[in-house]
Amino acid sequence: MLKNMKFVTVLLIAIMSMMFGTEAFAASGNQDWKWPVPDSDKMSSCYLDCRNHYAIDIQANNGMEVYASYFGEVIAANGYCGHNYCKYYSCGCEGGLGNNVYVRHIYNGQSYVSRYGHLAEVYVSVGDIVTEDTVIGTVGSTGYSTGFHLDYRVYKGYTEAEDRRENVIDPLMEQFIELPEGFHANATTWCCYAYEEDVKEQYAANPKVVQTARAASFSSECCEKYYLCESSNLKMDVAVFGDFWVRRALAH
Ligand SMILES: [Zn+2]
Ligand SMILES: [Zn+2]
Repeated sequence: MLKNMKFVTVLLIAIMSMMFGTEAFAASGNQDWKWPVPDSDKMSSCYLDCRNHYAIDIQANNGMEVYASYFGEVIAANGYCGHNYCKYYSCGCEGGLGNNVYVRHIYNGQSYVSRYGHLAEVYVSVGDIVTEDTVIGTVGSTGYSTGFHLDYRVYKGYTEAEDRRENVIDPLMEQFIELPEGFHANATTWCCYAYEEDVKEQYAANPKVVQTARAASFSSECCEKYYLCESSNLKMDVAVFGDFWVRRALAH
């Protein structure tokens, strides 16, 4: 109850700040959410890739700053895992998630939770109020993580710190997240999405503008085809299979 009251107070402050034009609280509109690792423009794993990954992975260097995506309240912060190195097994900390932060948001009248996993260091505590200018921790490889990256997950219509997969969404589907300049997935990453017709056209016109190519839905059928196209060694950036586009973003 106390916690809820605190959150309501925080929301009131946010609304008032919007009314009075405080810079930190931009008026609502597209792309209010920040890409959480500004120093990296690389996605190394898609949402729901072939290993059923309910997040996106942002490949980055050990120690790079991780920002909260949006104004909110920290509802979980765990920084005890000292196993910050690359490994093909889980150290067991936080069920393999390693050091993590969960932030609760209200955006356009909807509840969201953003989650940041495998952190090296955690700089915030439960109850802290953060904005997109708050460094909440640093990129690491704690928990079950084979390389330095941020595992970034977003839940919609949900307010808890516990995992509930039916509430997980693809952050790239949400038009409010601003993708970094030059955003690309790394060379070995295939993203399996079915696209809306108009997005398909935009993408065909300029495949490098991944920002405009937002996913509409995903099919496991696509994953099977992903293996097909890998094995047949297609060197295309985009392959079309019926209604599905298998996108491999350009390697730089
Ligand atoms: Zn650990
Ligand atoms: Zn991940």
